[in-house]
Amino acid sequence: MIQIQNPGWHPHSGCQPTSPLFMITQVFTKCPKCYGETILSVDRDGLIAWREGHQHIQDALPELDDDQREMLITGLCPKCWKTVMEEKEEE
Ligand SMILES: [Zn+2]
Repeated sequence: MIQIQNPGWHPHSGCQPTSPLFMITQVFTKCPKCYGETILSVDRDGLIAWREGHQHIQDALPELDDDQREMLITGLCPKCWKTVMEEKEEE
């Protein structure tokens, strides 16, 4: 389950007029196995490009690590993702 919170939140607006305006949005994820909740801060344009199918997630959101991408895609937290992979290997 993924919800996008605060779309359009501007963490840097008003700080330095000359700096680039980063559009960061917070994504709420809930792990389907342990129900652990995580909030990821991601680039808003990249998130939209990925969710609309314009770009692969690794191209749209290169600043995220593999664990964070997995949380966006499946909601699984790193601990449960590891468990799932180990279960698959045992099959
Ligand atoms: Zn979990």
